[in-house]
Amino acid sequence: MPQEAHVYSYSAVLMGSPILLKLFQHNEHLAHQVFRLIKHYENLLTVNRSPSEVMNINHAAGLHPVVVNPAVYQLIKCAKSASLLPNSVFNLAIGPLVKCWKIGFQGSSVPPADEISTRLALTSPHQVILDDEQHSVFITQAGMELDLGAIAKGYIADRVRDFLHSQQVFQGLINLGGNVQTLGGASQMRGTPWSVGLKKPFAGPDDLIGVIEVEGKSVVTSGTYERWFEFAGKRYHHILDPRTGYPLDNELHSVTIVSEDSVDGDIWTTLIYGMGVEQGCACLANKPGIEAIFVTKDRRVVLSSQQLFTFTLQDSSYQLAPQGS
Ligand code: ADP
Ligand code: MG
Repeated sequence: MPQEAHVYSYSAVLMGSPILLKLFQHNEHLAHQVFRLIKHYENLLTVNRSPSEVMNINHAAGLHPVVVNPAVYQLIKCAKSASLLPNSVFNLAIGPLVKCWKIGFQGSSVPPADEISTRLALTSPHQVILDDEQHSVFITQAGMELDLGAIAKGYIADRVRDFLHSQQVFQGLINLGGNVQTLGGASQMRGTPWSVGLKKPFAGPDDLIGVIEVEGKSVVTSGTYERWFEFAGKRYHHILDPRTGYPLDNELHSVTIVSEDSVDGDIWTTLIYGMGVEQGCACLANKPGIEAIFVTKDRRVVLSSQQLFTFTLQDSSYQLAPQGS
């Protein structure tokens, strides 16, 4: 395609995910700076190895508050408030459950019910105490663990966008393994959107249900097909229900959120995934900056509204269904 001729792609593997950066200039130095920035935030936020700021907080559970970097503090504050929304299934203190299910890591298995209930008792977001003056975080019970896995990629995608803006780059795309943040449009001609594929659940990596077109927006998908294991004929995926301790189970295979900031996309995919189609659409009716695309197990694609993107269905085994159908 002629307009693609000016796009340069750079890739890396970071945070256990393939990372893709697209720029309209051949600039390896800039790409290197972007990957270094991602690595910097990964090192602050990871819970998969020590040291990191979040691991320091977890190691001090039940002992003492830990002063953290202001950016980490703000992200934890944001994750805590999402966790405390009424009926929220987002929970920043889900760590003990994530660790015992090990979904997406070697050795995943269905934990015994008594272990799940013991660990559930260690996941109250109210027990994450924040101090705005000190920028400190204290988790009050020994054994509690923060897990920012559901929000870190979105936060980092936004920081990459801000960094590119600071370098006077206003067009490009960063894909952090499913969190896509776009800057401007997809060509130097005005009004050419970026195309982001909506993946077909449990199919090949290039099998798409359809294509989402956006300019200068974030597109985040949370899907049950991303990380899962099968045991005794049942699939267990990696988004856990903090009310039960088991993977969330409803009519959905995936939720995609289109929004300005990718961190909102990350929070809302989880919140809306917990609500399901009907309640999710009702909730978003008065949130114009956040739009959802639901993919249901019975092959419907439902759009909460469509001000920020256009969607083209490509797979005729799916049906574009109006809300409430
Ligand atoms: P992905 O990593 O595939 O983009 P998500 O953004 O949906 O997926 O985040 C899933 C990750 O978030 C899990 O691997 C786990 O670390 C964490 N997590 C699981 N359940 C919850 C939950 N209810 N609230 C917050 N974080 C969660
Ligand atoms: Mg997410």
